[in-house]
Amino acid sequence: MKLFRKLNLSSYTATKCKHRTKRKGNVSAFGETTSTTMPINEDDSVDYCLECIGKMAIRCAWCGKTIFIGDPVTLYIANKSNMPDYAMIYSESSTELSKVIGCLRPSCADTGGDISGFWMPSEDGKGHVHRIKSVYEIIL
Ligand SMILES: [Zn+2]
Ligand SMILES: [Zn+2]
Repeated sequence: MKLFRKLNLSSYTATKCKHRTKRKGNVSAFGETTSTTMPINEDDSVDYCLECIGKMAIRCAWCGKTIFIGDPVTLYIANKSNMPDYAMIYSESSTELSKVIGCLRPSCADTGGDISGFWMPSEDGKGHVHRIKSVYEIIL
């Protein structure tokens, strides 16, 4: 069994999406490609295949570039009516002001300290923001 595992290391059946996949590979979305290594889960496998991970990528509300699973994100307040269609609204509210999901590229984030979380997989296949405390909150 141990030997079988060893020989089989490079290929998995993803536990959540059930697709056959390699752990490491290139993921493409919106004309950009990134190389990804998926974390090993408790079942000694991976949660999602590379293709499903690619499908969960979104576009930055500000620059339109790709935000891949695992990328850091910002949640700046924006006026929804000024945002492109692909902008991902983080929290719908009754007011005009909403938070939109943006990337942490220098063109879009004032400082790296504006990181609000990471873009992570979700079981519905759409992805979600995994919130982390901001640098300021951690200091306080
Ligand atoms: Zn899959
Ligand atoms: Zn951006």
